[in-house]
Amino acid sequence: MKYVSEYRDANLVWQLAAEIRRVTHQPWVIMEICGGQTHAIKRYGIDDVLPDELELVHGPGCPVCVTPLEQMDKALAIASHPNVIFTSYGDMLRVPGSARDLFSVRAAGGDVRVVYSPLDAVKIAQENADKQVVFFAIGFETTAPANAMSVAQAKRLGLQNYSVLMSHVRVPPAMQAILSGVHNRVQGFLAAGHVCAVMGYWEYPPIAEAYQTPMAVTGFEPIDLLKGILAVVNLLEAGKVEVTNAYARAVSFEGNRPAQKLINTVFQESDRNWRGIGLIPNSGWSLAPAYADFDAEKRFNVEAIQPAESPLCIAGEILQGLKKPTDCPAFGTACTPELPLGATMVSSEGACAAYFRYPQSLAVEGLTHD
Ligand code: SF4
Repeated sequence: MKYVSEYRDANLVWQLAAEIRRVTHQPWVIMEICGGQTHAIKRYGIDDVLPDELELVHGPGCPVCVTPLEQMDKALAIASHPNVIFTSYGDMLRVPGSARDLFSVRAAGGDVRVVYSPLDAVKIAQENADKQVVFFAIGFETTAPANAMSVAQAKRLGLQNYSVLMSHVRVPPAMQAILSGVHNRVQGFLAAGHVCAVMGYWEYPPIAEAYQTPMAVTGFEPIDLLKGILAVVNLLEAGKVEVTNAYARAVSFEGNRPAQKLINTVFQESDRNWRGIGLIPNSGWSLAPAYADFDAEKRFNVEAIQPAESPLCIAGEILQGLKKPTDCPAFGTACTPELPLGATMVSSEGACAAYFRYPQSLAVEGLTHD
């Protein structure tokens, strides 16, 4: 197949759905890791064409959603500084901190700018030597190479006015945290295809083996998702613990080695708090010692902020596959995209946003629309 429309072909969807029904003989709970996959599942009604025995639960792979509240509050404190140009991906501007968001900092006169790449932030730093330019370096393995490259480039250019507020997270430790949870329900994983395009999937077989949980590397279009689900169901039904690649057009076992080398040069693995979930050991990246001068937390002395999370928000349980957005009493009432209580309601990859935006899935007939 050459064109994206072919990966949304309704006839193929029905064929794959029929095959999944044919091979499913008992109940299984499968987690899609990535929030982009959650949105595609809700948008195209993929869960509606699956047999009743299969339950899809939604994982923590939404970088905006898991950025801890204390990092948001630090971002707000830094962005409020009069000598700072604070740069960020657009999704972060509406994420609520303890008391406000980056939009309200901008409305109050702060210089908060949306950039599409951290290299744009480096350029802003070059053009504004009298200002401190800070980039909010959030995300999973997908954004890590570009974010690492921005720091490497700033060092090469000798920029004294560029720094990053680090909030990078990694998928494999999150999988391990979910699988080792006392209330874990996940029996199989759809591994995120874009993460694996960077990192490969060589890290996953030991996790699958340790927790006896099969996985399939999976893409984002309806056909990709159904192929991934079919691969996991086949493994579960056969009692096999393997990691298969259902997204071979984009992912190799080794991944992008130069990108991994760049990440491992500029960053080092570190413990990281996940919003709603808590501390997961070794689940993030911080700056390596050779690049520590570019750490915005140290530059602006914001390390001791104590955040206050909304007591109504159950996003942490949703992100671990323990509950669905519609289980939250605030869903669609006290919490909406216009007045969010948690990040999962505002992020374009958030599960609550997906359920709010697609209350009735388009189901298969929707696949002919875009
Ligand atoms: S609906 Fe709002 S309050 Fe409830 S879990 Fe989602 S983000 Fe949190």
